[in-house]
Amino acid sequence: MTKNLTPKEIALYTALLVSAIVGVITLLFKTNWIEFLASIVLVFGASYFVFLYALEFFIYRKIKLVYKNIHSLKTQKADGNLNPILTNDPIANVSKEVMDWADDKKTEIDQLKKLEKFRKEFLGNVSHELKTPIFNIQGYILTLLDGALDDKEVHVHFLKKAAKSIDRIATLVEDLEAITQLESGELTMEMETFDILDLVQDVFDSLESRANEKKVSFDIKEGTKYPFIVEADKDRVQQILINLLTNSIKYGKVGGKTVIGFYDMDENILIEVTDNGLGIEQEHLSRLFERFYRVDKSRSREEGGTGLGLSIVKHLIEAHKQTINVRSSMGVGTTFGFTLKKA
Ligand code: ADP
Repeated sequence: MTKNLTPKEIALYTALLVSAIVGVITLLFKTNWIEFLASIVLVFGASYFVFLYALEFFIYRKIKLVYKNIHSLKTQKADGNLNPILTNDPIANVSKEVMDWADDKKTEIDQLKKLEKFRKEFLGNVSHELKTPIFNIQGYILTLLDGALDDKEVHVHFLKKAAKSIDRIATLVEDLEAITQLESGELTMEMETFDILDLVQDVFDSLESRANEKKVSFDIKEGTKYPFIVEADKDRVQQILINLLTNSIKYGKVGGKTVIGFYDMDENILIEVTDNGLGIEQEHLSRLFERFYRVDKSRSREEGGTGLGLSIVKHLIEAHKQTINVRSSMGVGTTFGFTLKKA
């Protein structure tokens, strides 16, 4: 009942209490009824106004000031409006504002903790990825120095292995650079209109030798082989196609087939890259676009994967304000579908 009393109520109850005490004291002095009543009314009226004045001017004004400050800090961030809406109950206002403020701070702290965890994980992953090729190179060089240098066949073999590890580090650094740029939001898009079918044919040609190594064939889905003009950043779309097609070779089967299909979807074009490879278990699909997430770690490393390819693809597609999805069946194959804006 005593919770959330207004200043007027507090002044009223206090004035009643004071008049009761004064009343008892007056009775002790055996005054007559008129004097008794007059003193009570006078004391009640005077103390009510004194308490109300004291509360308003010394306490509630200060609380209102605190409330105004909190409110202006918040609105300053939002739109620069410094006029809070005050109701008759400043204590309730302050309490609500403080609770809201604490909630905001908690969310901010949670986000910062998440970012810190993310940063630590990222650093851990980077050093882990760099460790293997660096230790390999170290091993090859030590073996060469220990005498393998004298045997021509052996030393060429070790040098080739060292070169492969260096390539791996170079790819990792390139991918890390790409992801850092994408995540820092520094990416500037150069939008142009072009035929996506042409671009796909170019990417098919550029990956031909890699596909031949695993006897993978590329094709356009029957009935969808028409020019489709899109509005996008051509170099970035090329990167997306290279990453998806390279994955279809890396995780496809020898003698497999990768097909690209185009589907008209009103404002957008849907581009689907389908392979008939290993497939991915459902439980992995939701995490596939995370940095360094791999389903089969050893296969990815064997194939020279960094675990960043799909994460880069997702960032690039989101920079176009478009979406990507994946569906897969074990032993049947995998389809990645993404949209681009029609020109
Ligand atoms: P990586 O460099 O390891 O290939 P990605 O980010 O490109 O990294 O892919 C993440 C993981 O997703 C891969 O390690 C692989 O396990 C799985 N993956 C990607 N594409 C395919 C695919 N077409 N078929 C089967 N698995 C795939």
